[in-house]
Amino acid sequence: MRQPLVAGNWKMNGSRESIRALLDGLKQGIGQVEVAEVAVCPPFIYIPDVQEQLQGTAIAWGGQDVSTEASGAYTGEISTAMLLDFGCRYVIVGHSERRSYHGESDQLVAKKYAAARAAGLIPILCVGETLEEREGGVTEQVVARQLDAVIDLEGVSALAGGVIAYEPVWAIGTGRTATPEQAQEVHAFIRGRVAQQDSAVAEGLRILYGGSMKPGNAAELLAKPDIDGGLIGGASLQAEDFLGICTAAN
Ligand code: PEP
Repeated sequence: MRQPLVAGNWKMNGSRESIRALLDGLKQGIGQVEVAEVAVCPPFIYIPDVQEQLQGTAIAWGGQDVSTEASGAYTGEISTAMLLDFGCRYVIVGHSERRSYHGESDQLVAKKYAAARAAGLIPILCVGETLEEREGGVTEQVVARQLDAVIDLEGVSALAGGVIAYEPVWAIGTGRTATPEQAQEVHAFIRGRVAQQDSAVAEGLRILYGGSMKPGNAAELLAKPDIDGGLIGGASLQAEDFLGICTAAN
């Protein structure tokens, strides 16, 4: 039985003040979330504030990205050890915004995934196709390529205990959600591909859906057999909306 995970990706949003209010709201409502594990991924600079406010609660936190390197002359980077120093449990790697705006390749993302895992963080590996790729009928090839980069680097056992987020790029921040059937089809494809190499790893692998998930569409998506939670952007910035998604996993 896979425990659902609902993780908020705050992206580059918030202020110390707005984050305090958001976390107060989450802390008040988290008691209603009976089933899902819940996490938030703030901008790096707010992680110490988040740690202070969430320590001892049922809500975990994590980074939105991480360096492949342990330390040294890498201006602007944040290491796995730094994230661990501030209590992070998760880290997102390969978000489509990093792949497209920062030119992150499948291989670089695979190295980030490996570095996170080796350090004891739980990586959330984002995969997903653009609209052009979906319309060109290559969704499965794209997702397979992104997934295989991790498997090629470290073997399929690298996915044990990890998390994958299927995020169709055309659904991120657009208000256009994949239908539950479209999402389930890709989730089943991902699990099936992993199962070809290791059925136990596939069975335990949590595959989240991300892309305009909201309280109004979450229950239908989360009811699908291979959708094990959500990676939430916009709706994670409002306590009520985020908690609505978390309780939909009940
Ligand atoms: C995301 O960027 O991970 C995401 C899913 O964003 P949104 O929920 O806003 O579409």
